[in-house]
Amino acid sequence: MTQCSLRTRLSLNIALVALLTVALISVSSNIFINRQFEDYIAKQQRQRVEEILSHLNQQYDAATESWRLDFLHAIGMHALYDGYIVKVYDLQGETLWDAEICDMSACTRMIDDISRQMQGRYPDITGGFTTKDSNLTSNGKKIGEASVAYFSPYFFDENDFHFLKALNTVLLGSGVFSLLLAVVAGCFLARHMSNPIRKTAQVAKQMSGGDYIVRIEEKTSIEELDELMRSVNHLARSLGEQENLRKQLTADVAHELRTPLTTVGTHIEAMMEGVWQPTRERLSSCHEEIARIGKLVRDLENLAKVESDNLKLDKTPVDLLELAEKTLRNFDAEVAAKGLRLMIEGSCPDIPADRGRIQQVLINLFSNAVKYTPSGGAIRVVLSEMDDSVLLVVEDDGIGIPQEELPFIFERFYRADKSRNRTSGGSGIGLAVVRSIVTAHGGKVSAESRLGDGSRFHVELPK
Ligand code: ADP
Repeated sequence: MTQCSLRTRLSLNIALVALLTVALISVSSNIFINRQFEDYIAKQQRQRVEEILSHLNQQYDAATESWRLDFLHAIGMHALYDGYIVKVYDLQGETLWDAEICDMSACTRMIDDISRQMQGRYPDITGGFTTKDSNLTSNGKKIGEASVAYFSPYFFDENDFHFLKALNTVLLGSGVFSLLLAVVAGCFLARHMSNPIRKTAQVAKQMSGGDYIVRIEEKTSIEELDELMRSVNHLARSLGEQENLRKQLTADVAHELRTPLTTVGTHIEAMMEGVWQPTRERLSSCHEEIARIGKLVRDLENLAKVESDNLKLDKTPVDLLELAEKTLRNFDAEVAAKGLRLMIEGSCPDIPADRGRIQQVLINLFSNAVKYTPSGGAIRVVLSEMDDSVLLVVEDDGIGIPQEELPFIFERFYRADKSRNRTSGGSGIGLAVVRSIVTAHGGKVSAESRLGDGSRFHVELPK
């Protein structure tokens, strides 16, 4: 199939459908009206013959038993001009009046005219002049005979032809007018539809070239097109965000690596040049920095794994309470060192989950709670069951998170209040991992916090 624009294709299709519809309606209504008209005329003509015969009957004077010949003549001539050839005979069969005898040339002309006109208009017509014979009676007594010849099954006079012509012209005119109207409306509709699609295609093209700032501003009255444009705008926005995140990630990784690398580099350089003695303390400081790089790389690897599209979850029934208690035990040393109070309460049914990954979620949440809660603080873990899910809440009364930073804490490398984190050793990846794992399980994670008042993390996992 040859390719053409949506607008042309739509316009052509609409025009074609309009043409077919209009043609069908015009032809069928033309046929129907013509047929009705022919039936009507044929009926009229049969009635007219009856009327002529009845008029003829009335011209007999029963008292004198004679015919009013001048009236017969008037009726006959009048009928002749209407296309009927009348002949009247008395009881003896004598001709009282005969159109052909009276005016032969008028009769021939009339027969010729009607035959020619009818043959001209209906070449296939099988009609011709037929004669209707009838007895004339007065008071139930036969008084004579009459015959009326006319073009059967029907014939049209001048007025009828005019009427039919006008009717056909009106039908044709309204057909052409409707067609034009349909084509104009079709073109308008096609334009209305193709413009936003064209614009959307243009924006998609710009996006494929790396421009994610473009947006489609148009609005249409077509729901699906609006939806399409909204989706493309959304796509542009998320691609832009992804692009920014990617750039941000590279910058963040570089930034994270630079500090420890510089420290290690300058330390070793100083020791190599003999400025510093390679004391145990200095070497262990270098070792710490290298360990930091190692942790960062591990965190990144971990994140890459859980964020990869083909993260495979090995789901088994998991008892969240048992897992939480077991995981919390890993923090016993830090908890004891800081004198933190730990509480774990509530219960919930087993959930289908990847035990290892869910434990990673718990580790990240608990380690944050321990890390960001000062000595003497409290950490509460609460489990509960909801309609289709279970809810795990990890609550602490630690330093909290500034309100304006809350929306970003699940982003990679995001660290609230940067200064406090460098010392705490966080790289801002833990919560990104939490979100990825929870989302992969079909769950949701959110946080509430107030600076200085502690934080509360909600993890909802489907049952
Ligand atoms: P990090 O390794 O820096 O802790 P996370 O992704 O786990 O990275 O957390 C992101 C940031 O959210 C942290 O830098 C910290 O500022 C904040 N945060 C997370 N958990 C808590 C908490 N329980 N209390 C206070 N701040 C928190």
